[in-house]
Amino acid sequence: MNKVIDLRSDTVTKPTPEMREAMARAEVGDDVYGEDPTVNRLEALGAEMTGKEAAVFVPTGTMGNQVSIMAWTQRGDEIIVESNAHIFMFEAGGPAVLSGVQIRTVPGFRGAMDPEDVEAAIRPKDLHCPRTSLICLENTHNRSGGCVIPLDNMKAIYELAKQHGINVHLDGARVFNAATALGVDVKQITRYADSVQFCLSKGLCAPVGSLVAGPKEFVDRARKARKILGGGMRQAGVLAAAGIVALEKMTKRLGEDHEKARKLAQGLAAIPGLEIDMDTVQTNMVMVGTKGAGIDAAEFAALMKRHGVLFNWSTRYKVRMVTHNDVGFDDIDEAIRRVKEALGA
Ligand SMILES: *Cc1c(COP(=O)(O)O)cnc(C)c1O
Repeated sequence: MNKVIDLRSDTVTKPTPEMREAMARAEVGDDVYGEDPTVNRLEALGAEMTGKEAAVFVPTGTMGNQVSIMAWTQRGDEIIVESNAHIFMFEAGGPAVLSGVQIRTVPGFRGAMDPEDVEAAIRPKDLHCPRTSLICLENTHNRSGGCVIPLDNMKAIYELAKQHGINVHLDGARVFNAATALGVDVKQITRYADSVQFCLSKGLCAPVGSLVAGPKEFVDRARKARKILGGGMRQAGVLAAAGIVALEKMTKRLGEDHEKARKLAQGLAAIPGLEIDMDTVQTNMVMVGTKGAGIDAAEFAALMKRHGVLFNWSTRYKVRMVTHNDVGFDDIDEAIRRVKEALGA
């Protein structure tokens, strides 16, 4: 069969040749002793780019979020997150297991919570109530199909959090996609969060790794939490070297992935029965409704797998397709062609 076109996630991207070379050449040391120069360079770069005091390199985005929650909260606290947030949906109950906190969800529109709803969810200082100690935002918002949380929304939530003495953590797994879509420096986004987690291993193509950035004291606690979770890595410079290429080079090419997503969305929207809300195609994801085509999302994914196009389903009648560095514009054309063929359109 022809080449398989993998649109399951931007996590499937392979390290670039430049990354491989940087990894081979990386100067390393024992990072648990703080002696890996390449990790130190990556952490300094990540802190500088996001306008934070310090950063710590972690193996995954999930660990990045979890060490952040561990560092900001105490057992019995409550944290506010959007109802479809990755932290709530896909981190295996980590906040309960690791931090002993409970989650209060607030519904959002395309991932953005109404600041009034957030404020209403903050607990009063009352003997009966848990303490609200953290608000988590997610930009771009994964479950809503990569939608960008507007800056004024982040600002409003950040300001009310500060009025209440509450910290804000940004799950910025794809925050560079958000910055690209908004046409702003990433600092314009991260300024509205006390801490941020961002992935090097998604659209930025590094094989492994995320960074957690924030105030130095917070990062020290997050580093300790990383150790508790067994995430203290030794000669991690071989991984950090790819992360440096990810930050210096790959953050600049994400616009291309967004163009590919628009092209894919336009091509699929023209197929009778498939439903796409073009307003939500803001970054590198396309959510495709399948109900009108009379097919379940899971069935559609299985059908297209047989035609060499891979993607995941998200709800009963919705699939998610993600563009990235390892699919070209010609692959997008080919994917559209194969979908047409498979649906007999
Ligand atoms: C992927 C993702 C994560 C987790 O990253 P992993 O490296 O897969 O653990 C966290 N938050 C969001 C929004 C994500 O998309």
